[in-house]
This record gives sequence, structure tokens and C-alpha cells, in this order.
Amino acid sequence: MKAVLFHMHGGPDVLQYTDYPIPDPKPGQVLVRLKAAALNRMDLWVREGWPGIKLEYPHISGADGAGEIAALGENASGWKVGERVVINPSLHCGMCEFCIAGADNLCTKWALLGETVRGTLAEYVAVPARNLVLLPDGFDEHRAAAAALVYQTAWHSLITRGDLRPGETVLVVGASGGVNTATIQIAKLTGAVVHVVGSSAEKLALAESLGADFLIDRSKDENWSKAVFQLTDRRGVDVVVDNVGTTFSQSFRAARKGGRILTVGNTGGPKFEIDNRYIFGKHLSILGSTMSNRQDFAHVMGLVFAGKLQPVLDRTFPLSEVRLAEEFLQSGEQKGKITLEIRG
Ligand SMILES: [Zn+2]
Repeated sequence: MKAVLFHMHGGPDVLQYTDYPIPDPKPGQVLVRLKAAALNRMDLWVREGWPGIKLEYPHISGADGAGEIAALGENASGWKVGERVVINPSLHCGMCEFCIAGADNLCTKWALLGETVRGTLAEYVAVPARNLVLLPDGFDEHRAAAAALVYQTAWHSLITRGDLRPGETVLVVGASGGVNTATIQIAKLTGAVVHVVGSSAEKLALAESLGADFLIDRSKDENWSKAVFQLTDRRGVDVVVDNVGTTFSQSFRAARKGGRILTVGNTGGPKFEIDNRYIFGKHLSILGSTMSNRQDFAHVMGLVFAGKLQPVLDRTFPLSEVRLAEEFLQSGEQKGKITLEIRG
């Protein structure tokens, strides 16, 4: 099969579009012939590496993918060859106390497809049968792949962890990333009032098109927490979604007393200073999570299939042009998901 491999960490030029053996589905696994994959920032971070990351080379990145079932491993029940599926990239053992309780993203053996396990930037990938969801007839694989990681992440954070209620106010720090656009849509679907802080008029226009009620351009107003405070009659918002990290001090200021700060990542960097006085003084709750459980994944993909949540797609590259695709993602210029065409 054709696959995108790398043998060492580095820039986009370590990526090689080349031949690699088709993986054998192990017991309980299904072999998926991919039609589309979607990029996530995680793909860039894994390629660049971080202290402590251990990969079995050659590594294949890619968490998101959709295609059709090509073969079934032993005991991979419930599926037929030829069925069209989207992959849930949240890998879990299915047997530990957390998996049994349905909290499979807390699994003791949890892994993300494409992070430490070979992923979807290839013509075929083998994944556990329980990680697949059937695509409705006619539903495009690119849209499905673009939705899988970001919608489950946003749903689990905002609804399952954040317990967002209709009528509450939400502030999303960031206007255009995959998780942020999913968050804006889910918050609106829930009946919340949505404030968005973005870095440009263009990105804020995207947020507005997704239903955001109040837009704050941080290129014009660095002290955006003050703007949020004024927009909410000096109350602050109920929920802040901050996946930047380095912006936490402003997020604390923008939250109301007793507010919740939700985080699923740190695009601004993993370490930063926080002023603890805001946390106890304002009775703030900081709720972290990563990915979702299977139940949330099935639920949110159902909403995507029904058109109630619509993935924002930017551009599609052929798999062979993955370097260009990753450079485009790295540039931060994209508005929506970048997908890869694997099989035309
Ligand atoms: Zn487990």
C-alpha cells in the first residue's frame, strides 16, 4: 500500500510518501481501506516530537479516517466487508475499570490512533471493530473524517464534562480551529449564547457564520477579558473554552463567579503561569478532558450525519502531497479542516 512514513522527528521534509506492507488485522480488529483522512495539530506535534515520546519507526501519523471495510480479523463481529465506516481514533482496552464503566477515554491503556500507534495517513489501517461507526448512505468520507476527532472532543468537554445548559453564556478562545468551530456549533445547538475571541476579522467571520453571537477581535483589543466583562454587564460568562493555555489568566477574568474553565489542549504551549487567587476567589472549576467515550462519539456523529452539526472543511490535498498539507496546517491560515484524498 501507499503510506506516509517518517523515520525520525523533524519538519515536513521527514515525511515520505512510499510503499509499506498492508497491516494484518489482529483478533478483534478490522482492516479499513481508507478513502479520506483528516489532519489534526497532533500530527504536527508527533512529527516534531516531544521529550519522552517513543515511537516504533517507521511511524504513520493520522487519527482521523473514513473508508470501507476490507477484511475482518478473528472475532471481529458485527461488520461486513464493503461497509463504509468512520474511525473513532480513541483506542482503549475495553476491559479495565474505566472501560467497563463506559469512561473509555480514561482507559489505563488509552492511546490515540496516529500518536503512538500507526494511523490513517495510509491506504489501509487496522483498528478495533468497536472503534468503527457505520456511515449513512451518501455521507461523504471527507466530512466524516474531518468530524471524528474534533466533534467528540468538543462534545465531551462542553456537554459531558462542562454540563453546558441552554441559556448559559460561553466564551470560546479561538475562532477557527477544528475543535473551536465544533465547540461553537455544539454550544449554539444546546441553546447557549456564544462569545468568540479571534485573531482576525476573517476568522471571526467564520465564527459568526457558525452562529457566534458576540465577536471580539484580539488583534485590536489585547485585553479581551475586559471586553467580555463589559458585554456581559460585568458578570462574566458561565463557561470559558480555552484550548490555548497561555491565555488562562484572561479566561479566569472573563469567567463569572462559580464559572467553569474547559480545556482539551494548549495550542499556545503546555506551561504557563496562573494566578491561583482567581481560582479560589472566583470559585472557578477547571475541567480537563481529552477525546470522548464511545457513547459520546456515536451520539455526536449521529448529529453530524443528521446535518445538525456541520464540519467546516478548508482544503483537500492528495495523500502524496501530505507535506504541503502539513505546511498549510502549520501556517495557521486554514479555516476549517484539512483533509487528504487517499483513494479517488
Ligand atoms: Zn480500558
